[in-house]
Amino acid sequence: MIKPDAVANGSIGGILKMINEAGFRIVAMKYTKLSAEAAGSFYEVHKERPFYGELVDYMSSGPIVAAILEKENAVADFRKLIGATDPTKAEEGTIRKIYAKSIAANAVHGSDSDENAEIEGNFYFSGLERF
Ligand code: ADP
Ligand code: MG
Repeated sequence: MIKPDAVANGSIGGILKMINEAGFRIVAMKYTKLSAEAAGSFYEVHKERPFYGELVDYMSSGPIVAAILEKENAVADFRKLIGATDPTKAEEGTIRKIYAKSIAANAVHGSDSDENAEIEGNFYFSGLERF
């Protein structure tokens, strides 16, 4: 996902360029907006964490870009491309280092396992929306 802060400040193109240049294939993509309920459900695994309410408010605050990306070793390579959750700790040249504003508004989401990538892909896309 490209998160609301990055969409709002015109970073969709720059982020997609980095994703393309890193060798990911786009399988599915949409411009959409999460309701608070949908954001709460997407981030259900974090519901006990102190920032959950803030995260749900933020992720439903404006449009996002959702995509399914394909590559050999995609989960690990995408986490490497986006960098650490906290942009002040992200490596130079990573998407979050370049585009993220804060630990909460950190520009992009990446799945943390193949299993969660499957679940998160199904959250946004039907089989007919994948190419
Ligand atoms: P990641 O997105 O790197 O996998 P997490 O899964 O730990 O990170 O957290 C999910 C999202 O919750 C983060 O991307 C960020 O938007 C938000 N978040 C994480 N930690 C904090 C925090 N300490 N304060 C506010 N928001 C946070
Ligand atoms: Mg995570």
